[in-house]
Amino acid sequence: MKIESLDLSDEIKRFYENSGILELYPPQAKAVEKGLLEGKNLLAAIPTASGKTLLAELAMLKSVLAGGKALYIVPLRALASEKFRRFQEFSGLGIRVGISTGDYDKRDEGLGINDIIVATSEKTDSLLRNETAWMQEISVVVADEVHLIDSPDRGPTLEVTLAKLRRMNPSCQILALSATVGNADELAAWLDAELVLSEWRPTDLMEGVFYNGTFYCRDKEKPVEQPTKDEAINLVLDTIKEGGQSLVFESSRKNCMGFAKKAVSAVKKTLSKEDREALAGIADEILENSETDISSVLANCVRAGTAFHHAGLTTPLRELVEDGFRNGKIKLISSTPTLAAGLNLPARRVVIRSYRRYSSEMGMQPIPVLEYKQMAGRAGRPRLDPYGEAVLLAKSYEELVFLFEKYIEAGAEDIWSKLGTENALRTHVLSTISNGFARTKEELMDFLEATFFAFQYSNFGLSAVVDECLNFLRQEGMLEKDPDILVSTVLGKLVSRLYIDPLSAALIAKGLREAGTLTELTLLHLICSTPDMRLMYMRSQDYQEVNDYVMAHAGEFSRIPDPFNIAEYEWFLGEVKTSLLLMDWIHEKPENEICLKFGIGEGDIHSTADIAEWIMHVAAQLAGLLGLKGAKEATELEKRIRYGAAPELMDLLDIRSVGRVRARKLYEAGFKTTAELAAASPEQIAALVGPKIAERIFKQIGRKGTAPESTTTEPLEKGSPE
Ligand code: ADP
Repeated sequence: MKIESLDLSDEIKRFYENSGILELYPPQAKAVEKGLLEGKNLLAAIPTASGKTLLAELAMLKSVLAGGKALYIVPLRALASEKFRRFQEFSGLGIRVGISTGDYDKRDEGLGINDIIVATSEKTDSLLRNETAWMQEISVVVADEVHLIDSPDRGPTLEVTLAKLRRMNPSCQILALSATVGNADELAAWLDAELVLSEWRPTDLMEGVFYNGTFYCRDKEKPVEQPTKDEAINLVLDTIKEGGQSLVFESSRKNCMGFAKKAVSAVKKTLSKEDREALAGIADEILENSETDISSVLANCVRAGTAFHHAGLTTPLRELVEDGFRNGKIKLISSTPTLAAGLNLPARRVVIRSYRRYSSEMGMQPIPVLEYKQMAGRAGRPRLDPYGEAVLLAKSYEELVFLFEKYIEAGAEDIWSKLGTENALRTHVLSTISNGFARTKEELMDFLEATFFAFQYSNFGLSAVVDECLNFLRQEGMLEKDPDILVSTVLGKLVSRLYIDPLSAALIAKGLREAGTLTELTLLHLICSTPDMRLMYMRSQDYQEVNDYVMAHAGEFSRIPDPFNIAEYEWFLGEVKTSLLLMDWIHEKPENEICLKFGIGEGDIHSTADIAEWIMHVAAQLAGLLGLKGAKEATELEKRIRYGAAPELMDLLDIRSVGRVRARKLYEAGFKTTAELAAASPEQIAALVGPKIAERIFKQIGRKGTAPESTTTEPLEKGSPE
């Protein structure tokens, strides 16, 4: 089916033709036949790289140019940025694009001027809770990676959000994009959607198992040279020889860094002079962006053409690695499986070094087929590679047979709603009532009827869980006591708008009410003891140290569980460890020192601080509303967590491009406030932070930029607000 023949305006057709897209891929053509451009709901369950985004674009453009508004929901922030950048290419068509991933208690009314809005599912949920007006104008909703409904963390929010959007805009078109899952028909039926199910891919995918020097596919065997003792390195070298790149999936961060390092000497030998120069440039950029031990290991790897990629890296570092790989310079990325979920980063060969994953209940377990397919699907760059290869590794013939049966010949599992527990439902019950979607238990059950859970299991199973949630919310003062009518109290409305789990809010309120003295530690531990906080993992060497700390500061914790209740006490120690990380952060411990002490990466510091800042904001708001102590302290801590600094630096930190390190330098040199900075000579400030930053500082604090002309560009400081 030609783009030319589609029922689209000429300008859209020209846009695609100019970018070389003349004909639809077969699954795309099927989607058009099933009503994509006529506003029909559609579920496209097709492999990665087979053009799902283009489907979304066509539906969105058609609707937007007819006066509608499109919302594109993604599971991850990184994915939101990727899609945002792509959709900005439509600006030539007069289309405005916005992105929303940040603060949860904002309405973001300003976003409404855009025609296409990209948001994470959590942000979409929070926009709905804050009754953002433009959401009623949405004419197309795209739900990307909708199979994540199966995820206990994100699934419930996604399905409730979709149910709310459909309730609010019954005529709005829903386009759901999914990996191929076992029960795609069921998911489509839930969404009243036509189903496009296909295994078609733009590049052939050869899936197979490497065993004893040979890569076995379904109908082909391929011997691989063995210049080194490591099979995975040999597979990487073999791909480089054929002009391709490899993605190697590892089960842990440690292994992923280990493999990138191990491959250095072999990969380095394959590089051309031009590659080496380009790679040295990327390595330098990495070092400019971060000064931790992990980033110097990464820079060394990149100089040799290898890299690792995991959530411990900061976003700029990850992007440098992704770009270096996309432009063909980095030959190998060794990654944790998170990379398989969404980001568009295909490679000629994908090697899955470990198909087992550690689970605390069951030990090492084989990963689900769906996850294997997501990783394997990354193999083969459309239009660049003649084919893609996905390789599993076997140590014995029996394992080879097992892997063929378990993964290559198998279809992906069914997905199941995870909404049916009190923990998952509580927050959605409150927000549904707060937003006026339900005023009685019957109306609430009627609303929940629209969820995938009810579709899969029947609403009956939910009723008892909903009663538990309602009891909890009444008991905590978030709902009015009257059993016949569901009305949220002022507290309930605030909790819903702040996007916090009502249990977290209840724990914070109780902690503030009962606390004796409120120290930094008391407040930090209080937010770390809520279910919304992501706790750090306890290593065996941590127990003694954290326990000693608890003993020495016992009076500052609102509650210490009985050490003989081992599970509960261990959990508590995890909360304390996370509080200690935040404590080091707000006391300006250097990032590298924090990384080494806690065995984490810079990316972890930032993501932990991000969540902590939000929960501390909640604590300040709750204390304010309920008249509890701690409002002022929590507000101050919220800001300190944002910047990672002591209180005396707060004034300086309000200046963009001044982060914790530069602020400290200025402060120690005697420039303690913006007023003192304004009175300083440009040369003095330039000597401390470099001429370019000095110029920016003066511009912001309202003095004419008289700093000397700069010749270099200082990088933005990490953690600085820009
Ligand atoms: P998915 O979202 O399914 O992973 P994308 O939509 O990102 O895949 O498409 C992968 C690549 O294929 C993109 O670079 C896109 O421009 C290209 N592409 C999509 N549809 C077509 C088409 N009909 N013809 C040529 N290239 C296409």
